[in-house]
Amino acid sequence: MTRHAIVTGASRGIGRAIAIGLANRGYSLALNDIPAQEAVLLETIAEVKKLGGQCIPVLADVSNIGDCQRAVSEAVQGLGHIDVLVNNAGILKLAMIDELTPEIWDQTFAVNVRGVFQMTQAVVAHMKERRYGRIVNIASLAARTGAPGQSHYAASKSAVVGFTRVTSMEFGGYGITVNAVCPGIILTEMGRNNLRDPDRVTYFEKITDLHRLGEPEDVVGPVAFFASDDSAFVTGQALNVDGGIFYS
Ligand code: NAP
Repeated sequence: MTRHAIVTGASRGIGRAIAIGLANRGYSLALNDIPAQEAVLLETIAEVKKLGGQCIPVLADVSNIGDCQRAVSEAVQGLGHIDVLVNNAGILKLAMIDELTPEIWDQTFAVNVRGVFQMTQAVVAHMKERRYGRIVNIASLAARTGAPGQSHYAASKSAVVGFTRVTSMEFGGYGITVNAVCPGIILTEMGRNNLRDPDRVTYFEKITDLHRLGEPEDVVGPVAFFASDDSAFVTGQALNVDGGIFYS
């Protein structure tokens, strides 16, 4: 049976790699990004379609609840049903505490936390009806350690881990698992912005057991595991995918 997944923030970076990874594993996909990124999203969709299988766009700003409801309804209509939601969309605007504004704080929480809540709420009634679902939230190493300039981001990703734990409790009785992945330093546009200082690259390579930074593809296997039936008895977990930086 073909499984169907929604991936948010999928036009580039980790979301794009997850989309390609799931397509390679036979999933049909509804890929999301903000409306302003439609052209890039359509390019990603064209790449995914070359792998075979169905792939449709569902444009939405995940910080907008109406957008989330519409995107999920378009995904259900377009694919027939949804088995998997990957909450990947996220933002990081570096700001030390003395330059952090309420606007940056609110924007970070609106996308990274409220976006996860709103997409989850929009899809869960459908999953409950089918008594099956896999929700995978992309948190961050920042939920474990963080770095200077990321206080708001670390707080938002810690919130995602807490949200994962409690939604796992609420949905478990319906056959729905909820897990999080905490990537370390991954070489995407966000990752590169975070590493503008070359000393930071050297530092992270040194403290990583595998002595290298991550590629978006490094996140795919763990997400695919949580999205699959291989993880049927695993829920409420947050898995570090960081090459060996943080142990818990
Ligand atoms: P990225 O390269 O910046 O890509 C993020 C994607 O999400 C972009 O396509 C972006 O669209 C989209 N997006 C942003 N706001 C959105 C919104 N409101 N609604 C829908 N889509 C939205 O980032 P990434 O590195 O791939 O990160 C993906 C996820 O992994 C994020 O949750 C991030 O926090 C997490 N993460 C990343 C790292 C890392 O080192 N890269 C480490 C740990 C965790 P635009 O192109 O318009 O911005």
